[in-house]
Amino acid sequence: MRQQLAHVLEQVLRRNPGEQEFHQAVVEVFDSLEPVLRKNPQYVDAAVLERLCEPERQLIFRVPWVDDAGTVHTNRGFRVEYNSALGPYKGGLRFHPSVYLGIVKFLGFEQVFKNALTGMPIGGGKGGSDFDPRGRSQGEVMRFCQSFMTELYRHLGEHTDVPAGDIGVGGREIGYLFGQYKRITNRYESGVLTGKGLTWGGSLVRTEATGYGTVLFAERMLQNRGTSFDGRRVVVSGSGNVAQYAIQKAQQLGGHVVACSDSTGYVLDERGIDLDLLQQTREVERLPVSIYAERRGATFVPGRRVWEVGAQVALPCATQNELDEDSAAALVRSGVIAVAEGANMPTTPSAVALLRDAGVLFGPGKAANAGGVATSALEMQQNASRDSWSFEYTEERLAGIMHSIHDRCLATADEYEAPGNYVVGANIAGFTKVADAMLA
Ligand code: GLU
Repeated sequence: MRQQLAHVLEQVLRRNPGEQEFHQAVVEVFDSLEPVLRKNPQYVDAAVLERLCEPERQLIFRVPWVDDAGTVHTNRGFRVEYNSALGPYKGGLRFHPSVYLGIVKFLGFEQVFKNALTGMPIGGGKGGSDFDPRGRSQGEVMRFCQSFMTELYRHLGEHTDVPAGDIGVGGREIGYLFGQYKRITNRYESGVLTGKGLTWGGSLVRTEATGYGTVLFAERMLQNRGTSFDGRRVVVSGSGNVAQYAIQKAQQLGGHVVACSDSTGYVLDERGIDLDLLQQTREVERLPVSIYAERRGATFVPGRRVWEVGAQVALPCATQNELDEDSAAALVRSGVIAVAEGANMPTTPSAVALLRDAGVLFGPGKAANAGGVATSALEMQQNASRDSWSFEYTEERLAGIMHSIHDRCLATADEYEAPGNYVVGANIAGFTKVADAMLA
């Protein structure tokens, strides 16, 4: 079985040259699967793994747009429709200069398993562009989104493919994208995008969901060890949507959040992060965290990783491969007890191994950050029934989903003799759900 797995893996890596992030995500899942394949030869006979590693459809398109000075730019757009065994393709759009096919495929691959773990009827996909929204005016972002949707709309539909946000795509961008979709198709099809505004089909709690969900998952891991967030020193990386609401929920549960970051460095605020000021600075004014530090009288450390300040709970909520082995070692020295990934694949494989060897509770992104997409599925449910739910009810649903993901990961890890290993639990539970649907 090991040899067979290695053979499939080699083929996948060879067929997708140069896509380092995609390779990393595939290797990590394959590492967990040997016992499942041994127990279920039908997966091997039906070549489920080979089929799972090949996206059902990959779209690459040109996105021309005009800046405020009248100069024409050309960006590249992507949508990888990865797997539809469980429902319409579902997953966000990322606008960031680092985006290329390998990033979109890694995110799409992760999304398939994550979405399966939520228990909701959603397949997996991902998209985006190498467009850099930083420093762009409102009008430029709007024209870019309109041009992007002018090509993408023909591939979407509430029963076909339902994008949402990711890095660089928030409520504003979803608004421009939805407006263009509506204009081209002449259909008010609310369920075609999620993360919409509250007055036009959005769901309460969707904005908060990824960050809240990550903390709810971490809280459940801590409870399982007989402890909680209360009084714990917490460090969060990033300061965007996921980080902000992870900070809020950690604070609500009694955690003391002392640091967060952006691409320029990190802020250390021993009094505890002032979330209103952080949101005013980062969200409303779109300024860097150094300005937050200046306004707050806190310390700004340029060009360094936030993990060096040490924590009992660490929540990587920025981007892929942001927590490496050195950072993990620093966290272990400082007495970290839990790490939960709010971002997608933020912890490098050697850092994950180091944390697990040190007995640290580790919640992988495809389980710990599934609250965002799960709440997107709740948004689709509200759209389909032309209903809108209260904040309390929606948050209760989110908490229930996070708890059941947590418990399923643990039970699956136990079943496959890897007790307490959430990585193995998440990979196997996600895989079997999708694989069974594909076989059926
Ligand atoms: N981009 C988010 C994720 O990584 C959310 C996707 C969605 O809501 O469709 O899961």
